[in-house]
Amino acid sequence: MATSKTLIIPAAGSGTRMQRERAKPFIELGSQPILAHTIQRFLSLAGLSQILIAAAAEYIQECSDILQEVVGNSISWQCVEGGAERQDSINNALQHVADVDLVLVHDAVRPFVNADLIEACCRQAERTGAAIPGIPSKDTLKKIDDDRLVQQTPDRKYMWQVQTPQVFKKEILVKAYARAAQEKYVGTDDASLVEWLGKPVKMVKSDTRNIKITYPQDLKLANLLLNDKAFS
Ligand code: C5P
Repeated sequence: MATSKTLIIPAAGSGTRMQRERAKPFIELGSQPILAHTIQRFLSLAGLSQILIAAAAEYIQECSDILQEVVGNSISWQCVEGGAERQDSINNALQHVADVDLVLVHDAVRPFVNADLIEACCRQAERTGAAIPGIPSKDTLKKIDDDRLVQQTPDRKYMWQVQTPQVFKKEILVKAYARAAQEKYVGTDDASLVEWLGKPVKMVKSDTRNIKITYPQDLKLANLLLNDKAFS
């Protein structure tokens, strides 16, 4: 039998980098909001029994309408209020997580994630406890200081760009978030909190289609991808 799973989607960002009035997940892509596309990508996942979406207070009703339309009554779902930072939004959602084996955290603004990647991350998380998708960095990365003076050039073969869904055994993620809240530790993704706990996190190779819609040009690319059958 498939392991039981909760999907958490943080969708409470303000979207200032998109230069739009509406928050990014609620911008239309084709005929529906970005968030609706993203949710649909997970609906065939075996064992998915709960969906939690963190949205800003003024989008909770819209978020519920999208879930009702896309998911209906087939899976239990809830919209919770997000927080000031992504980490706060996830933490709020985690307070409502059911008794499941795995928790998947996926950005609302990555609507092109495919089923194979989602399943590969889940399989790996069942083995390691934590798994995240990523791609080898095609650019050389530099570590700089506050004056932008280059400090270090890490060997590129060990540098990967990380995406979502990040998948964890529930007890590991809950513990990492609780400890981070207690000790006021702030990470830039979910895995960084688990790494901070000293637990192993395994990388799963992804591809460049799983884009995060951040800037106006990303929305143009998203429209091209949406209409390109080879990418669906
Ligand atoms: O800001 P960034 O692009 O890293 O956001 C990634 C995801 O986290 C987006 O889906 C965004 O809506 C969400 N987020 C959130 N709460 C915040 C900030 C971002 O749920 N306070």
